[in-house]
Amino acid sequence: MSNLSPWKKDFSIFVPQAQPYLCYLDTAATCLTPKHVAEAMFHYQCYSHANSHQEKDQINSSEIDKLEQAREKVACFIGAQQRQSIVFNTGATDGVNQVAYGYVEPIIVAALKKGQHCNIVISAAEHHSNILAWQRLVKAYQVELRIAPLAIDGLIDIARLALLLDENTCILAFSHCSNVIGKMNPVEKICQLAKSKGIATLIDGAQAVLRSHCTVATIDCDFYVFSAHKIYGPTGCGVLYVKPDILREMLPSQWGAGMAKNVNYKESEFFSGPSRFESSTPNMASIVGLVEAIDYLNDLSLKEINLYLDDLAMYMHKSLSELAFYRPVVDKKITLRQAKMSTLVSFQCQNIHCQDVASLLRSENIALSCGNHAAQPLHSALAIEETLRVSLGIYNGYADIDKLIASLSHCHQMMALEDFV
Ligand code: PMP
Repeated sequence: MSNLSPWKKDFSIFVPQAQPYLCYLDTAATCLTPKHVAEAMFHYQCYSHANSHQEKDQINSSEIDKLEQAREKVACFIGAQQRQSIVFNTGATDGVNQVAYGYVEPIIVAALKKGQHCNIVISAAEHHSNILAWQRLVKAYQVELRIAPLAIDGLIDIARLALLLDENTCILAFSHCSNVIGKMNPVEKICQLAKSKGIATLIDGAQAVLRSHCTVATIDCDFYVFSAHKIYGPTGCGVLYVKPDILREMLPSQWGAGMAKNVNYKESEFFSGPSRFESSTPNMASIVGLVEAIDYLNDLSLKEINLYLDDLAMYMHKSLSELAFYRPVVDKKITLRQAKMSTLVSFQCQNIHCQDVASLLRSENIALSCGNHAAQPLHSALAIEETLRVSLGIYNGYADIDKLIASLSHCHQMMALEDFV
């Protein structure tokens, strides 16, 4: 592998005059945008934008075709059997909320009417977006929120999870890959377990959809959510995958013109497919950007990208673990398979405050995350306030990791010197 990524040139932000050498190690927060995506969106907005929600008899068929082709493209990307399972929204957070409002809340209301209890199960490693939507229901209806613990390796402890699932569980919602721990949960096994007990599953795929060779039909989950900006697409755009039989039953969480066939004061008629969940004018420019991101990744070859990232991830874990002061949030010993898959890692540096490390690294133009990464309960459970998080994208090369390691070592030396003085 070369020191620099062969795909770095596709990202305008790295054009030398735009920035001094930028070492971007924050892809888990958001991917940088390839120029192909930005150009496709610009082109759409300037030259082919038209309202896709005109009167039925004057529907702009090219816009509708574009939307349906986009569903097809996304369905293919995540291995869904039907494009009708793909709902466009504003991101993973929106997807979790759509399920909370449109699927889980009606179940809770019906159960409470019958005097039954309800519980919702999530894992101990969830992003706030996969906690707060459930907390709203917990507060409104006094349902129980159960937290599935993690095993020592940071993955969901399946045996202990099994003990939490019962006939009153309305949903099991968990991340495919935690944005702090960075390892892939065995999603198929977990969904199988839930299914055997008749429990619906929602997977937060924000950090995993690209790296996991995700196939929702094989995973057999009921819902899968992700955001376009985590796969090199634009911000403010995302996808909710819903199993077809559930999509027919689920309620929308927002109501508006885009979802309706006929509207009358007494009774209105709604579309039956995913349009029922897309109540306003679609965010077409962003959907065009999402499609372009998928095309871009497919053109480069998803297989090749993932092999490249596997190699880079192993180099990152190996290089970091050679630093004596490196303290990862979970085990320092990571299996080869996990190291390959895990393009993000959260850690502390022994005896140095995370914010101090982050500001020194930022002064050297290294972008990374520092804080609780919107996973405060997980940090509390680990009895730590903050961590540094480094994450890789297709524009990174060995040179970025070498720069990170050199800067961390420099930071450690400086701090040791300060202590000495
Ligand atoms: N879940 C996880 C695991 C994430 O990493 C993120 C984004 N950091 C989200 C959910 C929320 O994504 P968005 O803000 O795009 O809705």
